[in-house]
Amino acid sequence: MNLFDSILSLVAPDTCAACDLPLEEQEKGFCGGCKILLEPAPSMRRPPAPSASVYLHRGPLADAMRRFKYQGRSDLAPVLGGLCADAAHVYAGHVDVVIPLPLHPERRRSRGYNQAALLAWPVARALQIPLRTGLMSRMRVTRPQVGLSAKERAENVRKAFCASWSLSGQRVLLVDDVSTTGATLGSARKALYDAGVDDVFTLTLAYAPEEAAEAMEGVRLAS
Ligand SMILES: [Zn+2]
Repeated sequence: MNLFDSILSLVAPDTCAACDLPLEEQEKGFCGGCKILLEPAPSMRRPPAPSASVYLHRGPLADAMRRFKYQGRSDLAPVLGGLCADAAHVYAGHVDVVIPLPLHPERRRSRGYNQAALLAWPVARALQIPLRTGLMSRMRVTRPQVGLSAKERAENVRKAFCASWSLSGQRVLLVDDVSTTGATLGSARKALYDAGVDDVFTLTLAYAPEEAAEAMEGVRLAS
């Protein structure tokens, strides 16, 4: 059992993250029935791609993430962050610092936690590099991206982020929960490059292709 597994066994819930079925001794995070339904992201999107995701945002993973993000289930962080950490090993030696996508302070207050920071912590731990939460900020409250077209998404998050010059010359692994059209992470990536960062990789736990296709469709209908 590695360090992360032993932490997980101490703090993770003993029921399935998606369906609440009690876990058998050898099961971690998800029950057997849910685990086999987790769909890996397409290989061209998997780490170490510059914009990578671990799984598709479907089925039990989407259920678990909804509970984690919107139903106050921050106790699912070790399980979901662990999935990110397992996939992040390939970045070892290629990144210097892990940064969670910042939430606007107002939204962080209302949710009680930044879900990206909770996912990023096990990643930094696995890579044995620092997790820095204070060096990038969200300048304004943006509308939720759900339901917006790709074009509206890009406009909604344009210049939404600001990064500290103290990151200059570093290679950053930016972590978030879900990516759709990539507009938010693209805007954050630009803010990091504007601050003199050397290289940026982005890693999300899940990629939502259906929602991305819908947003792209929105652009075609609107134009
Ligand atoms: Zn289950």
